[in-house]
Amino acid sequence: MPMLDTDHDPVTFTRKPLDVLIAGSGCGGSLLAWILASQGMRVAMIDPQPHPRFAIGESSTPVADMILADLAARYRLPKLAPLAQYGTWCQVYPQLRRGRKRGFSYFFHAPGKAFQPSPSHTTELLVAASSDDFHCDTHWYRADVDAFLAEAAVEAGAGCIAPATPRQCRYARDRWQVVVETPAGDLAFRSRFLVDASAGRFGTRFLQAGDRTDLLLSRSGAVYTHLRNVRPWRALLENWGAHCQDHPFDCDAAALHHVFPGGWMWQLRFDHGVTSLGVACESSPAALPGAGGCEKIRSFLAQYPSIAAQCEQAQLVDPPGGWVIVERLQRRAARATGTAWAALPSAFAFIDPLHSTGIAHTLSGVERLARILLSTGTDSTQVEQLEQYERQLVSEVALVDELVSAAYANTGNFSRFIAATMLYFTAAIQYECRRKQGLQEQAFLCADDPELFHRLRAACCYLRETASRSDANQRESIENGWDRVRQWIEPYNTVGLLDRDMRNMYRHTVAR
Ligand SMILES: Cc1cc2nc3c(=O)[nH]c(=O)nc-3n(C[C@H](O)[C@H](O)[C@H](O)COP(=O)(O)OP(=O)(O)OC[C@H]3O[C@@H](n4cnc5c(N)ncnc54)[C@H](O)[C@@H]3O)c2cc1C
Repeated sequence: MPMLDTDHDPVTFTRKPLDVLIAGSGCGGSLLAWILASQGMRVAMIDPQPHPRFAIGESSTPVADMILADLAARYRLPKLAPLAQYGTWCQVYPQLRRGRKRGFSYFFHAPGKAFQPSPSHTTELLVAASSDDFHCDTHWYRADVDAFLAEAAVEAGAGCIAPATPRQCRYARDRWQVVVETPAGDLAFRSRFLVDASAGRFGTRFLQAGDRTDLLLSRSGAVYTHLRNVRPWRALLENWGAHCQDHPFDCDAAALHHVFPGGWMWQLRFDHGVTSLGVACESSPAALPGAGGCEKIRSFLAQYPSIAAQCEQAQLVDPPGGWVIVERLQRRAARATGTAWAALPSAFAFIDPLHSTGIAHTLSGVERLARILLSTGTDSTQVEQLEQYERQLVSEVALVDELVSAAYANTGNFSRFIAATMLYFTAAIQYECRRKQGLQEQAFLCADDPELFHRLRAACCYLRETASRSDANQRESIENGWDRVRQWIEPYNTVGLLDRDMRNMYRHTVAR
């Protein structure tokens, strides 16, 4: 591999052809650039937005942490390793803002009614993802984390050209030629390979990646922002006499989900007092009364008095424009790879934040693309590897779509929602276990295991198809739902998911 120039003047990266040009310097693009540059590749990122900047997608998972640790070890990146668990993150990088995430917590709300806690926890679900605060996962405050990763890439020798808006892109004579507009004038890059890490924006415009969103089952939109003074949910629960002593961890140190018919609200609490909060619902946010995000959230809260009590003192922090409204979250391109290019998972497709799959999926894509781009095989080997990568992404997105759509279809009935959610945990735990056994090459969430995929899909179909019938004969369908789903996941259910004796409080789901 050619050695890199140490000068970070953007023009440096236009003088000689690059090995890899990365469109996008979010967490995925920056981490990939860091890895490739650390291995001696000549790499640059282009991005219309400079760092630091607001970004959404903050709740990490055990899978994400495992991949970070593996990447740090494989590519000898000691600066990356501390980010793989909350305790080391706080010790080594106290300035990088983050939140403590012990697991996933869910609370069910009926419209117009106060939250109803019960000793048997029928309206609650807590799933631990770690055994203690030191080894737990982390909510990423993305403005800080993305800037940190981009800086590390630059220190390793990569270019980060931002703001830089792509204007032209063409492939000719075995080279990409990309022209970007910057405040200092246009720059023209040449590169052997191109990675789309732009959440799809670059690929749609310049790579003829196409649009197959029509293939997706899920349909949801969202309204979200960052707030201060969101009261801890646990404090309210304790006031209402809920049995918080049964909780395996503090329900606020989690990806907290308030589930309601038709959708859910996420709350991700950072240590500096800011909470990432958003409402995702099956109908587009346009269906919520009110013109802007603030009015829409107010009209939502008017239906859910307990969540309203939690948010009554909340104040907007960022992004500067206030609430972000996304009419539809889902998108899927037709292609994830082509001649001398490949997309990171979130550039190929995005489904929904419900199961916090985004960061982990992105990291698994970084892991696979780094291996492919750094492998010393022939061009035809690389083509085969890219084809396999694309096949895996297609299955992974199809699986996440199944899991998300089955859960949404059952948001009106919390027992059935739990059954659907447990299908995600089944896949996540399997994937963690197999990674621990050294199987890093497999598809994210084991989506390329035909037996597991078949079982999960069958259970998702059942839960979707019987969702509308669940109100008529609720009790029978709830029990059938759990029993049926448990049978489907039985060969993979190593931690007792859907065991009624657990009373929805899962302490031990940890594979590490
Ligand atoms: C509402 C919402 C909530 C989410 N919540 C979670 C969560 O809790 N947990 C989780 O794991 N995941 C979550 N995700 C998913 C998560 O945000 C993504 O998986 C993750 O950000 C992907 O990282 P990335 O670096 O590939 O893309 P991004 O972080 O989206 O970065 C893309 C970069 O490309 C740049 N860019 C834009 N246009 C261009 C262009 N034309 N050319 C070049 N660059 C361009 C952007 O400026 C940006 O820097 C959420 C997503 C959404 C939409």
